[in-house]
Amino acid sequence: MAGQYESTKCNGYYQIPKEELPLMEAYCGRYMRFLETSRTEKATVANAVTLLEQHGFQSYKAGMPANPGDRYYFNIRNNALLAVVIGKKPLDSGMQIVASHVDSPRLDIRPDPLKEESESAFLQTHYYGWVRKYQWVSLPLMLQGVVYLADGRRVDVTIGQDPSDPVFVIPDLLPHISSEQNKLPLSEAHTGENMNILIGSRPLPDSDRSKAVKLQVLEILHEKLGISEDDFLSAELEAVPAISVRETGIDRSMIGGYGHDDRVCGYAALDALLGIDLPEKTAAVLWADKEEVGNNGITGACSRAFDYCIERLCKAQGCFLGDCFEHSFCLSGDVTAAYDPNYADCFNKTNCARLNYGIAVTKYTGFSGKEQASDAKAELLSYIRTLFARYGVVWQSTEMARVDLGGGGTVALEFANRDIDTLDAGVAVLGMHSPFEVVSKLDCYMTYKAYNAVLRG
Ligand code: MN
Ligand code: MN
Repeated sequence: MAGQYESTKCNGYYQIPKEELPLMEAYCGRYMRFLETSRTEKATVANAVTLLEQHGFQSYKAGMPANPGDRYYFNIRNNALLAVVIGKKPLDSGMQIVASHVDSPRLDIRPDPLKEESESAFLQTHYYGWVRKYQWVSLPLMLQGVVYLADGRRVDVTIGQDPSDPVFVIPDLLPHISSEQNKLPLSEAHTGENMNILIGSRPLPDSDRSKAVKLQVLEILHEKLGISEDDFLSAELEAVPAISVRETGIDRSMIGGYGHDDRVCGYAALDALLGIDLPEKTAAVLWADKEEVGNNGITGACSRAFDYCIERLCKAQGCFLGDCFEHSFCLSGDVTAAYDPNYADCFNKTNCARLNYGIAVTKYTGFSGKEQASDAKAELLSYIRTLFARYGVVWQSTEMARVDLGGGGTVALEFANRDIDTLDAGVAVLGMHSPFEVVSKLDCYMTYKAYNAVLRG
């Protein structure tokens, strides 16, 4: 037949069997419920631990065995996670890993954040990760995180999630008087020092009028949460969008929400792992923090915490960690850019990810001439094509954008550097790093199927 050697890649809706559509909707419903209350890395990990325990996983303690079918998790300082189902084969024959990150760009509350200016009280922020600051003004924000009080007590904070809660905002300048600001480049119109969240406007009666609004805020924080001003230092408080996760589009084909990058991949791996009983090789889901700021620190993908957790399992089987890594395969599950026809010239049309074309396989990430890329070997692409075909996964290949326009990284490099064969593949996102990112349901489902295939091997 003429033309038979051309690629048959097309929209996943022309490929997905009709009987799988209800499974897709059910999966996306589970993901949306998870994402709704998982807006910080701590909340994401805590929600995962609840699910893991409901599905028979227990916290691994040194000296426990690692027998086929055993289900364990390691809670790495509440911000990162490793969960495994021990396989039939010993650990020195390698693990099947899906690694992703559970931090998202946001506005962190500074260590000494409260100030009063002209009888308004503000919480000063320091942005975390790559944010386009103009997207974070005039946006309802909620506060989520943890504060340790002077006596060491931990207070978990969530204000703005419940519809009856107050929310917060950084008011933007009105168009009527923004003619000077309008002339500035997007990157300069809002400065980091101006990203101050309005937290109150009402003075505390019978107090020093030069700071009565701030004092009122402190009164309320202390009354509701026990927090004093100095406690902000021993805190991880994050301002994140107070927008619900919503079906998007009149056809409900998409999901809009905050923090798809990268909980959309992290959740897919977790959901797949929960359903696995006895894999051939040990199946591992690994969640790191701090990807948005370079993978460093004790809960970042660079951290040896991950090595030590896996080493403990190896020790239980009398295996060498290096043998385990050498024979392991890691799918680095992270999001990539989805082609946006409104910004067509930012993309290379045959090397970009499209909504509904399935999980996006990224051979290399990085910048410029593949700088900082983990360039996956041909052998790995060959392996993954075969595996995806076997499991009926709809997939596409992508580069983030046209050459030299910009770029990005993932956790892939950190696992490849450990002598683990690693390849990037995840969900394509519209408006990545914005307060309301958009993904396609079909791509979410195919990513779940892909990670399920990898974990089962
Ligand atoms: Mn990411
Ligand atoms: Mn990101």
